Order: sequence, then C-alpha cells, then structure tokens
Amino acid sequence: MSRKQLIENNNGESFLCHSCGQPVPPLEGGGNNRNHCPHCLSSVHVDILTGDRKCRCRGVMEAIALWVGGKGEGSLIHRCGKCGFLRVNRIAQDDNELMLFMLAAAPLSQLPFRSKDALGSLKERCRQGEVNRV
Ligand SMILES: [Zn+2]
Ligand SMILES: [Zn+2]
Repeated sequence: MSRKQLIENNNGESFLCHSCGQPVPPLEGGGNNRNHCPHCLSSVHVDILTGDRKCRCRGVMEAIALWVGGKGEGSLIHRCGKCGFLRVNRIAQDDNELMLFMLAAAPLSQLPFRSKDALGSLKERCRQGEVNRV
C-alpha cells in the first residue's frame, strides 16, 4: 500500500501525516477514526459527510481555531487549503497540548488594537465600579 493510500484509507491503522510527515498511531482505546494529526493538528479533506472518505479534494486542512462547545468539549476548526471547506473536529486525547495552546493564544497576540491598553482601561473601569461583571 502506498503512503497516499495509507493516509486515505485510515481504518485504525498507523499512517504518515500529509502535512508534517510524522507517523500517526491509531487512537488509543479505539473509538472514532482519527481525523487529524496529533502532532501538527492538520487533517486531509477526505470526507463529504464525517467518516465517509468520499471527497476527492484531498487538500490539507489546517487547524485554524479552537472552539469550546456548550458542554465544555473542545474542538478544532479545520479549513481546507485547497477548496476552503470548513469542518469542526473534536480534539483527541493525545493532541499536542502546546499546539492547542498556541492555537488558542494566537488571536490574543494579533488583536487589531493594543491589548495592553484595552486591559488597562478595563481594569480602571473595574476599579471605579463601572464594570463589576462580564
Ligand atoms: Zn502532522
Ligand atoms: Zn478541500
């Protein structure tokens, strides 16, 4: 089986990540098939409906954001670099924690205004009793 087939026919077997090239072991304890690499968090656009492997795009899907749903369940937002398709995928237990943290922190380091000034002014307003809860 070629490397390409290995990635596209991942049925609980180890495979090589399309994006970073590192080996990706099957998910411990089974469960759902892996839908992204635990090292770089990238995925491949292979599904039309989750798990069907019927999409011919095969573009690399980069994790662009972290999203925490109503029950506190963490998910990744993936965007296909080839066609722009967006998909939400649940975080796996062995995903790289530093990568997840950097993804969550990225918007805070690139705000379109000076975050230090904004935080300072919010702190001052709290002190003066203008703001006492979120
Ligand atoms: Zn990877
Ligand atoms: Zn695509």
